[in-house]
Amino acid sequence: MTQDPTYGFDTLQIHAGARPDPATGARQVPIYQTTAYVFRDAEHAAALFNLQEVGYIYSRLTNPTVAALQERVAVLEGGVGAVCCSSGHAAQIMALFPLMAPGRNIVASTRLYGGTVTQFTHTIRRFGWSAKFVDFDDLDAVKAAIDEDTRAVFCESIANPGGYITDLDAISAISDAAGVPLIVDNTSATPYLCRPIEHGATLVVHSLTKYMTGNGTVTGGVVVDSGKFDWSASDKFPSLSAPEPAYHGLKFHETFGPLAFTFHGIAIGLRDLGMTLNPQAAHYTLMGIETLSLRMDRHVANAQKVAGWLETHPAVERVTYAGLASSPYNDRVARICPKGAGGLFTVALKGGYESCMKFVDALEIFSHVANLGDARSLVIHSASTTHRQLTPEQQVAAGAAPNVVRISIGIEDADDLIADLDQALHKSQA
Ligand SMILES: *Cc1c(COP(=O)(O)O)cnc(C)c1O
Repeated sequence: MTQDPTYGFDTLQIHAGARPDPATGARQVPIYQTTAYVFRDAEHAAALFNLQEVGYIYSRLTNPTVAALQERVAVLEGGVGAVCCSSGHAAQIMALFPLMAPGRNIVASTRLYGGTVTQFTHTIRRFGWSAKFVDFDDLDAVKAAIDEDTRAVFCESIANPGGYITDLDAISAISDAAGVPLIVDNTSATPYLCRPIEHGATLVVHSLTKYMTGNGTVTGGVVVDSGKFDWSASDKFPSLSAPEPAYHGLKFHETFGPLAFTFHGIAIGLRDLGMTLNPQAAHYTLMGIETLSLRMDRHVANAQKVAGWLETHPAVERVTYAGLASSPYNDRVARICPKGAGGLFTVALKGGYESCMKFVDALEIFSHVANLGDARSLVIHSASTTHRQLTPEQQVAAGAAPNVVRISIGIEDADDLIADLDQALHKSQA
């Protein structure tokens, strides 16, 4: 099939990036379990190494199975290219790497995956980078936080753990005016529910580990390039606009145009940082994405039903699901994620920390795990686990206070999920 961009999402999630294998006709994308690729001749090898021809050299940089996945995710997100990485966290470093330098900062939302808060608070400081955390509902604060050294604005579309929805249009208007790229982590929404590039995102990052693969079998990530940012409009992004010494003075933006970021990600990022996705993982993720829309529709329907039921339960203080009319984010659903508010939310229990511990121990269908976006329903007490490294203030700001449990609604029978929650809530109050 030709890759007609007018095809619908359900068609593209199965066909984009995949062609019958030229050697065998294999219909499913083969797992190219190979480290290296034989050059046609010495001249071909030289052209590949000089970036004058695109092709396969060594699987740290490029691999046909991974390339099919890159193309599929880029198409689904409406980007021009994508770079797969070994994890979602690797994707975040790979997204920042070409933009940053010692002394530079990012302006990031307070409502982020706990591991991202830790990565941005502590680990990136080892590179001389830093993050300023701001409430992204306070647009003036976002504007004020951007300074001369800011090189990116970072947020999640549907934000972990509460399922809050970020006003991407308002945030991208601010980042555009400041001349810095907007990076959106679209893990919790997936391109089926939200397409951040249509709301002004420059780069989209994913943990493929979650809904994209959809069954808890893979650790992977991806950076999608919108191709829309003018890296040469200022002197802020020399990795992309200035001569690259490792390629005889080649300028990525001048040479590759809208694909500058993607080429840099492969030719410099994967080559030198080595955060490569393996072909086996890419294959699992390609298979997972084939059913993405079907699964997301079920995640949303189940979450809507379960969250609505939880809200009326006497043991429950509050439910954060943006699909509920009671959520302050409910009016953003139609504009930012029109097919639904996802499958992730938090619930605050009466009885605080102790009740939460009893609740997670009593659940039977729900697994207590540090994961989300699985076909299975999952639960975690963030304050004692994923958000444990955060200060109490950061926990509250991130929506992970001690009386809060994060719930990732799977695609099982909603009535079975409700019955399981009901018996566990009963035990939580004992
Ligand atoms: C899981 C997750 C990450 C990190 O991804 P890994 O694949 O675990 O490295 C980043 N952002 C969000 C929103 C996540 O849910």
